Amino acid sequence: MKTAIATVSLSGVLREKLDAVAAAGFRAVEIFEADLIAHPGPPSEVKAICADLGLQILCFQPFRDFEGMTGERRAKAFDRAERKFDLMTELGADLLLVCSNVSPDAQGGADRLAADFAELGDRAAKRGVRIGYEALAWGRHVNDYRDSWEVVRRAGRANVGVILDTFHIQARGTELGSMRAIPADRIFLVQVADAPRLDMDYLNWSRHYRCMPGQGDLPLDAFMDALGATGYAGALSLEIFNDRFRADGPRAVALDGRRSLLSMLDDHARRSGAPASALMPARAPAEDVEFVEFAVDDSDRAALEGILAALGFARVGRHRSKDAALWTSGGVRIVVNADKEGFAHSFHVTHGASVCALALRVPDARATLERARLLLETPHRGATGPGELDVPAVRGPGGGLVYFIDRASALGRWADTDFEPTGEKAGTTLTRVDHVSQTMRHEETLTWVLFYRALFRSSSPPLAEVVDPGGVVQSQVVESGVPDDGRGGARFVVNASQSARTMSSRFLEESFGSGVQHVALAADDLRATVRRFRAAGGRLLPIPANYYDDLAARADLSEADVAELKSLDIMWDRDAGGAFLQAYTVALDDGFFFELVQRDGYRGYGAPNAGVRLAAQARLARPAGMPRH
Ligand code: MG
Ligand code: MG
Repeated sequence: MKTAIATVSLSGVLREKLDAVAAAGFRAVEIFEADLIAHPGPPSEVKAICADLGLQILCFQPFRDFEGMTGERRAKAFDRAERKFDLMTELGADLLLVCSNVSPDAQGGADRLAADFAELGDRAAKRGVRIGYEALAWGRHVNDYRDSWEVVRRAGRANVGVILDTFHIQARGTELGSMRAIPADRIFLVQVADAPRLDMDYLNWSRHYRCMPGQGDLPLDAFMDALGATGYAGALSLEIFNDRFRADGPRAVALDGRRSLLSMLDDHARRSGAPASALMPARAPAEDVEFVEFAVDDSDRAALEGILAALGFARVGRHRSKDAALWTSGGVRIVVNADKEGFAHSFHVTHGASVCALALRVPDARATLERARLLLETPHRGATGPGELDVPAVRGPGGGLVYFIDRASALGRWADTDFEPTGEKAGTTLTRVDHVSQTMRHEETLTWVLFYRALFRSSSPPLAEVVDPGGVVQSQVVESGVPDDGRGGARFVVNASQSARTMSSRFLEESFGSGVQHVALAADDLRATVRRFRAAGGRLLPIPANYYDDLAARADLSEADVAELKSLDIMWDRDAGGAFLQAYTVALDDGFFFELVQRDGYRGYGAPNAGVRLAAQARLARPAGMPRH
């Protein structure tokens, strides 16, 4: 099956959209009527642009409110169709998408509708045009693909077929088994969209919340398997209406779209028993965060290293060729890179003291890089000194690097290969990286979620909303390779706010773009870790006394327990799995901070405490507009 996209999925004017579609590697496109109308040149010019870009025009759409009309309105509908055929001839499009009628004036009845399509088919045949009938989920009489197929079947014209749209079918939960009754050559096009599960009317859900496969909750795998059973070999075309995509540049969205289809097609081929040679390397679990790399300069290095030392990290290695150090505590490895050249340095110039790279441990790093490459990620080539490792990496969506490291190859010895031991013994207060929290513009969140889901075997709890003093922050978690006891794997929290006044938005402004806002580090004994940190001069985010009064009232904790948590500025939560403790370091220069957690079987991220934490951080932050230094 080939990949395609409808111009309505992208922002910009038609020319920009077509350029973006071609640049993402698509070879076919659906032209949306509104895009054509807004184009300053004639349809023949659009035909020429598409030909230049190597884009086949799959379809012209949509043609609305056609079937089931009576009297003069029926005659007018046919007149309108004839005018579209003229336009399509000039455009070089041979398929017209007719979506089911939503007009209250439309009549129903399969035979009446079939007669309309038979006549439309005969008229279209004279012009070399085919007609594809699509059942909208909110169609007046036809809102089910089984009914649109019945109308098409009764019309009995070879140039009249159905168009299947995953959203319209799966939003209603229509059964998929009947699809196999449709001959493959009568399915003229398949449109693909995912969507988050939302309890709202079909029209608004479809117009504003459609997203790329893998970004939402629809069971597209089941659709693809049912479609596969028909023998369909035509195009899979993305038709996405989404407010976020309209706010984002067309190139990034087109690339995400192609990536999502390639990933979905690969999943389908794998389930269908395709040979390994025809498949991408499979999604791998991200087994752990192998290291976190910070870009710093000489002045913020001292602040960061002061925090690390107070947390009980030890500086165990000195980089063999760069001005960088390796700090460890338990299974947490942090690289502090103050080199004056290379990726970290340029990242620091743009973003200030920040996380410039994450290294994820996977079973086979080269295979994960190959999957990333096949999913159109750009491999990163960094400068490596003699004898140093060339670690596979891609640019993550926020511009930071994501390294892939495995224990099976020489990459597993990165710490010994690239760092000279200082003789210091690793710290023991912290055990592992619990999660990495990334903040981004609202429009970017779906890109990041797709990035993780397309590369790694993962799962996600439902989207959460957190109230910040400046507005609402949406938070999507992606967990990969997390075993049942919750003590391994990699967890990513993707946060976005549409309000300019939230801490998330301020972070974006201060750091000039998306990035890692906090890294949560796990401890076996958080109280002891916090005491040690304080004794060493570390500063924690002060939590208001009201929080602890409330905690005493709602939690089954003793007064002494609550008093102890209060004295340590530790917040508490519990879920079915167990209890959770969390504390926060104060932010480095109003940007990055560490979260410290103790997870006793707890599966969440402390969402009930997030509002109090965000308010506490907002109080500490310097007033907006004050200079950084
Ligand atoms: Mg559609
Ligand atoms: Mg967190």
